[in-house]
Amino acid sequence: EQDVSEYRKSLAIRVSGFDVPKPIKLFEDCGFSPALMNAIKKQGYEKPTTIQCQALPIILSGRDIIGIAKTGSGKTAAFVLPMIVHIMDQPELKKEEGPIGVICAPTRELAHQIYLEAKKFSKNDGIRVAAVYGGMSKLDQLKELKTGCEIVVATPGRLIDMLKMKAVTMTRATYLVLDEADRMFDLGFEPQIRSIVGQIRPDRQTLLFSATMPYKVERLAREILGDPIRVTVGEVG
Ligand code: ADP
Ligand code: MG
Repeated sequence: EQDVSEYRKSLAIRVSGFDVPKPIKLFEDCGFSPALMNAIKKQGYEKPTTIQCQALPIILSGRDIIGIAKTGSGKTAAFVLPMIVHIMDQPELKKEEGPIGVICAPTRELAHQIYLEAKKFSKNDGIRVAAVYGGMSKLDQLKELKTGCEIVVATPGRLIDMLKMKAVTMTRATYLVLDEADRMFDLGFEPQIRSIVGQIRPDRQTLLFSATMPYKVERLAREILGDPIRVTVGEVG
């Protein structure tokens, strides 16, 4: 216990919440499948980043999380790797149903980066990732969604469009990620985010990542997360 607290202090890590799982040191400590370990090694990731050491055991235990860390700290893998475990844990992966994992990001560029990362990590397990953001025709997206997917990476506006068109259903969704929540709010996506969250079953696991925690984001987090653990890495504004 003392070691963990000294270690956190040295890296400017602050963690709060009930029954916080111990951080891990190695990807090998996560109990990942050989397929997922191979995908991680193939990416050239030798060991987890600071936020990954803290966040991976929390998320893998099924808890909700608020992750606050600056750009470049490795947040994408922190939410994508447990998402793959969550999906592979589902008893039956039927083809025709909607996504199990839903990731919202503020811009098409950010969503596209996440999409590429999610594809790399899920390829070995045959998990299908759908992209729902601008830069691709809505018709192509409709087709992609119709063939089925386990993960959707979306910008909030386009996802709402697809939900309105009934191109995608959230009945199977149990793992929701709001990435760069502060930027999504800056871009005016609060109503869309609320609408999306309202369409996903309340017993989902919810993950919120942000570089800063302005009041509006804090308020949303309190409303939509259940007993979250908050992890802050580094000095944040
Ligand atoms: P963030 O979302 O926090 O801004 P990213 O998830 O985009 O950060 O990661 C930043 C960069 O670090 C990416 O190029 C990613 O591939 C790389 N990266 C992430 N985790 C690791 C790791 N454990 N080892 C090495 N590189 C990593
Ligand atoms: Mg990121």
